[in-house]
Amino acid sequence: MTKKPTKKPILNGGAPKNFIVLVVILVAAIAGMTLLTDYARQTQSLKYSKFLNLVEKDQIKSVFVSGQDLFGELKDGVTRFETTIPQSDSRLWPMLEKHSIEYGFTNPSSQFSWWHLILLLGLILTPLTLWYMFKQSRGSGGGGGGNIFNMGKSRAKMFMPSTIKDNFNSVAGAVEAKEELKDFIDFLKSPEKYKRLGAKITRGVLLVGEPGNGKTLLARAVAGEAQCPFFSISGSDFIEVFVGVGASRVRDLFAQARKHAPSIVFIDEIDAVGRHRGSGLGGGNDEREQTLNQLLTELDGFETTHESIIVMAATNRPDVLDKALYRPGRFDRRVEVPYPDLKSREAILKVHSRSVSISKDVDLGKIARGTPGFTGADLANLINEAAISASKKNQKDVTLEDFEGARDKVTVGKELKTVMLTEEDRKISAYHEAGHALMHLMNPKDLDPLHKVSIIPRGRALGVTHTLPEREKYNKTQNEMVATIESLLGGRAAEELVFESVTTGAYSDFKHATEVARQMVCYYGMTQSLGKVVYLPTDRGDSYSPRTAEKIDKEIKAILDKCYSKTQKVLNDNRDKLDLLAEKLLEKETLYSAEIYELLNIEPRQDFKFN
Ligand code: ADP
Ligand code: ZN
Repeated sequence: MTKKPTKKPILNGGAPKNFIVLVVILVAAIAGMTLLTDYARQTQSLKYSKFLNLVEKDQIKSVFVSGQDLFGELKDGVTRFETTIPQSDSRLWPMLEKHSIEYGFTNPSSQFSWWHLILLLGLILTPLTLWYMFKQSRGSGGGGGGNIFNMGKSRAKMFMPSTIKDNFNSVAGAVEAKEELKDFIDFLKSPEKYKRLGAKITRGVLLVGEPGNGKTLLARAVAGEAQCPFFSISGSDFIEVFVGVGASRVRDLFAQARKHAPSIVFIDEIDAVGRHRGSGLGGGNDEREQTLNQLLTELDGFETTHESIIVMAATNRPDVLDKALYRPGRFDRRVEVPYPDLKSREAILKVHSRSVSISKDVDLGKIARGTPGFTGADLANLINEAAISASKKNQKDVTLEDFEGARDKVTVGKELKTVMLTEEDRKISAYHEAGHALMHLMNPKDLDPLHKVSIIPRGRALGVTHTLPEREKYNKTQNEMVATIESLLGGRAAEELVFESVTTGAYSDFKHATEVARQMVCYYGMTQSLGKVVYLPTDRGDSYSPRTAEKIDKEIKAILDKCYSKTQKVLNDNRDKLDLLAEKLLEKETLYSAEIYELLNIEPRQDFKFN
């Protein structure tokens, strides 16, 4: 985040959890003492006879006598020892003299050995250090006066509507995300409307996208649009060393949000708490699990309490989240916040250059073209760097040269953090997606209509071809299944056709295609050789013989091979269309179905006249 409205720490309610703090200090003090005594124990305790023995062997360097206690050091310079002198041992002094061992005395009451000093210091310093640590951590999270008694309090920042400057105008591009979030704004603005009708409405929204693409900004803009308070916290703020603290922070956060309803709770980096339970090694998970459970409890609470609170959470790792978070009534709405495409990048540049005076020779559209793979944050940063460069040189406005320099600077920073797409990567990705899309258009009757094709990277995938399901399908025809496989194989087939070597980018396509083929063979009796038999895998291995397994594998491969040959032929015969589509994708990055129909000059949803 670069821009933040002035923040206001939450004024916490509820009884302070002094006892937790006390327990913590006690535990720490005991731990400290144990450690110190342990240290002290490195001083060996010797029997008097053994001591005399050592004296005889000339191994002792010096001794120090305090009453009946004798402390000493061996000649090795490391080992210390202590022993107790019997009531009267007249042999001792002459012996020490004889072996020229240094000796000294001290009055027992003033005895004050070095470890006693450390012990005392430790006893004073441990609680002090702890106190200081808590103060520090409170200070950085809450932005307000730190306090050791606030450990269980939420560290959320609360923004009142008057301090929220962002609204949907501040968010450039992200058209689909904004569209999907509109419902929530309406709900927050007039919750009674929904309550009256008894409508069940989604409370949890998961914003999915790489860092810097505007998840936080979108959430804040929703609050700005709805004019409601905004509570913001990061998942990592819940994670504490002390079990129970995270959970109580969650409870506190939601209590605050309820008090100010209608309101929005925004949890950044939810993966910090929301990783699926039981993952990770060894201890330290209890805390996170308790925190996650508390979060789930709070979300479930809305079902009965009907508060007008929307919980938005952000992540770039939806795959690692605990499935429990996705259950109905929890985070059951998912909004993608992708890398901005060409148009959006230009729009973002425009938004961020509103307060910067930019020279006439600068074409923001061109700069957008030259910054594929930049996030919204990168673009904001780009404008900022360019402005800094112009100010340094005392220019009256920001020139193209400033932008060039700034772009290099931002790119270098990015390369350290992310994998940058090279021009070659983009080209491969464009052909791959064009291949999917063409094969899709080839079978219009059998598949859901094409929605959009994009080479904007999304998570681990470099590109994506979306379809829009027209109707819920309960029965699939064999043709539909074959068409699905063909369009899945289109990506790799196009790569193979155009480039000398192929990439690993088709793995999940193949996985999916293989699964469809397996279903055709094993469940739906769509092959001759295996007949109308259902072959189900069981927990304890397959229910069919190894010979049948072999046959199944052969049939699956036969289906995939046949589909792949057909796909290769279709793409080869329609190379002109493939090139056209790929080139347009490289240029615009995202193409909607209407644009594709126009480009290829075909009627929407009509049979495609292939060569
Ligand atoms: P995320 O939460 O996804 O990591 P942020 O919301 O913190 O990303 O975005 C960081 C900054 O990048 C924003 O404060 C804003 O300045 C800029 N930004 C990102 N996306 C956009 C956008 N769509 N429009 C305008 N600015 C954006
Ligand atoms: Zn693919």
